[in-house]
Amino acid sequence: MKTLKDIPVGATVTVTRLHGEGPLKRRVMDMGITKGVEIYVRKVAPLGDPVEITVRGYELSIRKSDAEIIEVEKGSSSPKPQTTSAEESAAEAPSAANADDSREIKIALAGDPNCGKTTLFNELTGGNQYVGNWPGVTVEKKEGRIKGYRNVILQDLPGIYSLSPYSPEEIITRTYLVKDRPDAIINIVDGTNLERNLYLTTQLLELGIPTVVAVNMMDVVRKNGDDIDFMKLSREIRCPVMPISALTGEGTREAAAKAIELAREGNAATRPHVFTGSVEHAIAHIEESIQGKVEERSIRWYAIKIFERDEKAYGGLGLDKELLGHLDEHVVECEKEMDDDCVSIIINQRYARVKELADASLRKRRKAGSLTLSDKIDRIMTNRILALPIFAAVIWLMYYVSVTTVGSWMTDWANDGVFGDEGWHLVWPTGGKAAAWEDDSAAYAAAQARIEAFEAAGDENATRLFRIEDEESGTVVNYPGELDEYLASKYADAEAFGNISKDDILALFDEKGAAKDTALADISLSEADGEPALRVAGDDGEDGETFPLSGFIADKASVEAARAIAEPDPADTAKYGLWFRSIPAVTDAAFEKWGIEEDSWAHKLVFDVIFGGVGTVLGFVPQIIVIFLFLGFLEDVGYMARIAFIMDRIFHKFGLSGKSFIPILVGMGCGVPAILATRTIEARRDRRMTIMLGTYIPCGAKAAIIAMFVPAFFSRSAWVASAMYFAGIAVIILGGLILKKFKAFAGDPAPFVMELPAYHLPTFYGIVRHTWDRTKAYMIKAGTIIFAACTIIWLLMHFTWGLHYVGDELDQSILASIGNVLKWLFAPLGFGKDWAGAVASVTAELAKEQSTATLSMLAEPLDVAGGTLPHLRALFMQLNGAGLGTLAALSFMLFNLFNPPCMVAIVTAFREMGSAKWGWICVGFQFLIGYGIALVVYQLGALFIAGHFGFWTIVAILLVLATLWLIFRRAPIIDEEHKD
Ligand code: GDP
Ligand code: MG
Repeated sequence: MKTLKDIPVGATVTVTRLHGEGPLKRRVMDMGITKGVEIYVRKVAPLGDPVEITVRGYELSIRKSDAEIIEVEKGSSSPKPQTTSAEESAAEAPSAANADDSREIKIALAGDPNCGKTTLFNELTGGNQYVGNWPGVTVEKKEGRIKGYRNVILQDLPGIYSLSPYSPEEIITRTYLVKDRPDAIINIVDGTNLERNLYLTTQLLELGIPTVVAVNMMDVVRKNGDDIDFMKLSREIRCPVMPISALTGEGTREAAAKAIELAREGNAATRPHVFTGSVEHAIAHIEESIQGKVEERSIRWYAIKIFERDEKAYGGLGLDKELLGHLDEHVVECEKEMDDDCVSIIINQRYARVKELADASLRKRRKAGSLTLSDKIDRIMTNRILALPIFAAVIWLMYYVSVTTVGSWMTDWANDGVFGDEGWHLVWPTGGKAAAWEDDSAAYAAAQARIEAFEAAGDENATRLFRIEDEESGTVVNYPGELDEYLASKYADAEAFGNISKDDILALFDEKGAAKDTALADISLSEADGEPALRVAGDDGEDGETFPLSGFIADKASVEAARAIAEPDPADTAKYGLWFRSIPAVTDAAFEKWGIEEDSWAHKLVFDVIFGGVGTVLGFVPQIIVIFLFLGFLEDVGYMARIAFIMDRIFHKFGLSGKSFIPILVGMGCGVPAILATRTIEARRDRRMTIMLGTYIPCGAKAAIIAMFVPAFFSRSAWVASAMYFAGIAVIILGGLILKKFKAFAGDPAPFVMELPAYHLPTFYGIVRHTWDRTKAYMIKAGTIIFAACTIIWLLMHFTWGLHYVGDELDQSILASIGNVLKWLFAPLGFGKDWAGAVASVTAELAKEQSTATLSMLAEPLDVAGGTLPHLRALFMQLNGAGLGTLAALSFMLFNLFNPPCMVAIVTAFREMGSAKWGWICVGFQFLIGYGIALVVYQLGALFIAGHFGFWTIVAILLVLATLWLIFRRAPIIDEEHKD
């Protein structure tokens, strides 16, 4: 016996039998894999699983373990299709509804996943629902009114392959169609995939609801050179069939008008008979017996469901046992005659009929087996060796463009120009002029620094003046004038330079990387590459080391020259081009006019909250737009489904279904829809696990955190940024491994049978709209939640419990006292020295990007030169207190990326988990992960970088060992019968 599992790539086989029973078999059959159908094995995923096949003219990916139930034989021995009687049914069920135009009517959009329902919904209603080129995007019912018809409500339903539901979102659709009964259905059929889509159509028509079949994607059908005979198809299935293209809007109004007309008339479509003699005979018997017990027009639907023994469907009818027992005799008879089970009989016969329909009405130009462009692209994108590197490169590119190029130019412009202190020049088309401004203002700044250093030295005849730039804190020290002061501030017991204590100098050198035992006498002023430097002599005549001071040599003459450089005026349009003053500068001028003083608290509130807090969050909009543009493109082009295909093997190994990857991909935009997207996962334990792990992929808000930290601490490295993404995937996989070892999650992952949609070129408008929707949501959040939170935080930060304004003495504030209570919690993570770390961490739970706003408000009062980034570095030095500012920042970033998602996502998780107990388990688990990662990274980092060893180092090591144990311990044996 050969099963599909054993078939090599490139072979064509014919299905001879399907083994087993239950949902998997049913799902496989619903997807069109039935007895006698031909399957072409296209390829095997990079890691050997799943297998990609072509069946009934479309592509499907199926896991090897699931393919085992499909018994096949070599060759394409097309069996004779089962004969079908397309006899007509006279059951035109006139409805009681009148044709009153003012009556409110409901029209439902139903169809396979990814056939374009939401696109059509948006087109007809002017709505803005989420469209993505992969199955499983819409998981909730959405409503909207059709433009131009006040009384017509259109409903977008989740996609379904069949009316026998498996997953929660499919149940939504079926329950709605069967129980609530819309006035009409627009059945969207993907014209490029007619055969499988019509399978659902045969079932919808049985519901006895007026139906219009809209054949979508006509633009593609035409481009492929295929031809569909709509008249013929319409005659065969006895309902209107109309060509549309939801994307271009072609034919959509007509289809809607037809549906409205049918709904008003209330004329149900004819319910065509699709089954062969004896089955049709049995169904007729059943229909007769339940006459009067169910609504006339649903009678055929229920009869078939009784034939299928689908108790969920007819259970509610209250039919008596005896009758059902009697009816079952007919079914048993049929089963005997056909040597198959009742469900398979129905599915087989449906597909036989559908094949007839497709053969009769579709003329394909392309021969089966020849490669489409999509196939060719897939040869590279899902190639065994290249797939994973390509995936990594795509993500890297996304962050590269966002963090180091376009996104960061725009963000610098937003932060330093629009929200900066002064303003900005028009770069285009007067680029040369704007560059002149850069040069002139830089020259002026250098001149000022020279003058300042000269004056600080207090020595008329000084010739050597140096600057030491402390990169971490952003401090600039002029030597000799300020060095002693600087050292004194850094090392409290230091005396003046020259007779300063040796240890302090050594400490400074230690920090800069010199050996500890260097004698003070060996330190001298020197030069390196013509620039001044501090020199440390080596031992026993060895070459010493030189530490460049970013200094300069100044003397009276050069300072005179510097004094001659006038301050350039940015508003000098002739010289520098158009000048726009920054929002803060404009506001400042206005405040001055209104007499609001600069150090009044009203002035500070506006500047700190709006420009410091909200402005920071808005400043990341350009980078976020870049990420959203990439996501929009990848989603629409169809790459996301490929990622699921590539990742399935890895995920399966770790007990997660490839299906879990779809919510994770959605999560790159926002965690909330990601959690909702878990509804496509059938098994409850897999759903729970995906909810717990799905939000570890950095979302748009977390991208803002990355966009803030990476330039400040990791010199704009796209590697660090994309590493956060892959760290997310790693956490998901490791977390999955750990959870799978618990009884509540153990067991085989759900079957993964997913369609791979053809690639298509996204429309410009579609991507822009996607990006705009998400960006708008981000900006609205900044204007509401973030604004409110910043105001409250600012007030708490600037007032005492006794409601006295504290000015710059923030340590006296309410917020400081709250932070002081919590800060011990964060001390082991490296940013708990100061209350501010606790405050930034806790407020990030409101919304992840809130932490960027909070940090910027906390860093603002620090006395350092040079804009946001040095402020941030100084803040983390202070939060850390042990000289490991960068490590503390890394730990803070990891903690915020990997602890529970924002409040809204947590609430959603509670709801989707279905119980408070599971909600708490989820949040608790996520907190442990975030805390654990930050703890381990900081403690082990501190051990390696600075040799710090203490109690928490031991905890970190134990934590690593415990995690390894959790990952590698044996999985519990579970009883598959009672797993859910
Ligand atoms: P749903 O899952 O049925 O709601 O499908 P969507 O509306 O999300 O659309 C799935 C994909 O098909 C998206 O990438 C759409 O852009 C694309 N699509 C929808 N209608 C058309 C069409 O008429 N022509 C083309 N070429 N693409 C379409
Ligand atoms: Mg949809």
